[in-house]
Amino acid sequence: MPEAPKNTLKPTTDYNLELKNKKTLQFIEDVTSNADEVQKKVLEEILSRNAHVEYLQTRGLNGHTDRETFKKTMPVITYEDIQPHIDRIANGDTSPILSSNPISEFLTSSGTSGGERKLMPTIEEELGRRSLLYSLLMPVMSQFVPGLDKGKGMYFLFIKSEAKTPGGLVARPVLTSYYKSTHFKDRPYDPYTNYTSPNETILCPDSYQSMYSQMLCGLCQHKEVLRVGAVFASGFIRAVKFLEKHWRLLCNDIRTGTIDSQITDQSVREAVMKILKPDPKLADFIEAECCKDSWQGIITRLWPNTKYVDVIVTGTMSQYIPTLDYYSNGLPLVCTMYASSECYFGVNLNPLCKPSEVSYTLVPTMAYFEFLPVQRNNGVTSSISVPKTLNEKEQQELVDLVDVKLGQEYELVVTTYSGLYRYRVGDVLRVAGFKNNAPQFNFICRKNVVLCIDSDKTDEVELQNAVKNAVNHLLPFGATLAEYTSYADTTTIPGHYVLYWELSLNGNTPIPPSVFEDCCLTIEESLNSVYRQGRVCDKSIGPLEIKVVEPGTFDKLMDYAISLGASINQYKTPRCVKFAPIVELLNSRAVSSYFSPKCPKWFPGHKQWSNNN
Ligand code: AMP
Repeated sequence: MPEAPKNTLKPTTDYNLELKNKKTLQFIEDVTSNADEVQKKVLEEILSRNAHVEYLQTRGLNGHTDRETFKKTMPVITYEDIQPHIDRIANGDTSPILSSNPISEFLTSSGTSGGERKLMPTIEEELGRRSLLYSLLMPVMSQFVPGLDKGKGMYFLFIKSEAKTPGGLVARPVLTSYYKSTHFKDRPYDPYTNYTSPNETILCPDSYQSMYSQMLCGLCQHKEVLRVGAVFASGFIRAVKFLEKHWRLLCNDIRTGTIDSQITDQSVREAVMKILKPDPKLADFIEAECCKDSWQGIITRLWPNTKYVDVIVTGTMSQYIPTLDYYSNGLPLVCTMYASSECYFGVNLNPLCKPSEVSYTLVPTMAYFEFLPVQRNNGVTSSISVPKTLNEKEQQELVDLVDVKLGQEYELVVTTYSGLYRYRVGDVLRVAGFKNNAPQFNFICRKNVVLCIDSDKTDEVELQNAVKNAVNHLLPFGATLAEYTSYADTTTIPGHYVLYWELSLNGNTPIPPSVFEDCCLTIEESLNSVYRQGRVCDKSIGPLEIKVVEPGTFDKLMDYAISLGASINQYKTPRCVKFAPIVELLNSRAVSSYFSPKCPKWFPGHKQWSNNN
């Protein structure tokens, strides 16, 4: 298997950096050219080292490491299938259940099961694999944008709260795990990981202090900044909005060379003081720009040497493209990688392409990949669908990485080094081309997800149940819900969920606004923990809104869909709308609107661990 280049060179001269880049690009050439051989070896390695784990033994794999036996013997699974094993590990069973390596921690996915974050087991060495994927990004980028080693990246990176399982393992999001690891904290000098944010500001658990100090450091070093970004588009826009709200305080700090007293974390203060110097001229400049009526192009105005915005805008994040274009004056939006808590998957080898054309090349050393062909009805899913268990024939339909067909859509299935075997990730991908023998995929969607603002992923069933709970508030007024749909409104910052409700009113008692507000809150209380965390802790999602629409609105919606070619027999009310003319139609018929009056309840960790945290 081609060896990944080690990050040991000290690139103090251009020559070293060039050599390092060359080696990295050669690694990509090698693994993509030999994709099938690499995949075969990855599977052999995973299965041989885990031959004695309970999960493989009880399914009768008997130490086989070849693809054919593996595919014949092992079922294709979802999270719910392995949840009993995960629960045992979470409760302290340290026997080799899924992996022969000790489970080092759980990564809490933004995908949920039963309203709670999914727990993905991981092992220590996975951090190395994640670091490897990160190390590919800048050598690829430098082929298209030269000179990125001559300045800094202003990235807004954050950690989130963590919890302990009853068995004592840490459970936290994958990025929190990565930023807290020595791979990130003690990274060797590299001009490509030279960020404006000191580690202490990224690792500060208080989100206000973390954002404030990162913004302050970014402003102080504004001329050195060559690229800006965050993980997802929503996070970057949140940073711009933060600046809009707090630039006066920030300018004051820059003018005086002191830090605002709300920043109380001592390690953050010390780290910032190494960067912050009194600079009245810079403060005047920032103030003059922020005072202007329009914030169009604020990124290029304040950070004039920025060459691109590094954020994920594929999938649901594409809803933020117009806002990013506005703030950045149309700088290239670069999506560099595709990853998850289960496993990091791949990189974009053509990073300056348009967001709509982004494709990710899966790196064959990361995991063993299989693909389940999917048929979608022109991208429209209007009925509630729950992932079904695959029958034997369907399990046989899974194809290997090098066998996928151009233009075909597939659901991604992974077998990882940390103990997931033929696990359905839930993402739908389309083959857009090939790099040597390795396919490149457009990200199409996450199965079943209807609403998303930040890292929340709300599916139709969750939405339906939440609405069902809320409408109980209407019963005393003789009102029932005739129809509903929803919309992720990202024109407000932070974005928020909007529910359009058409009511059947049988009684004469008017419904007071407070009842609708209670409905809003009940929906929020009923949604999954990632949504509630976004509302409560990260403040990345705004209060949920119910818009009551005139009677007959949903008939109009049907007429409109039919005029666009929908079949009258098969028409079902979509439970989520995105198409602008439909949203306009609904808004034009809204008669009243109500917001959730307060935040729903949320606490770190799983509900059942509440006593342990
Ligand atoms: P999590 O496990 O919470 O980190 O979420 C991982 C999921 O985020 C993936 O399975 C995708 O659905 C989504 N995701 C990650 N990277 C991308 C990307 N580059 N484009 C679109 N969606 C992505």
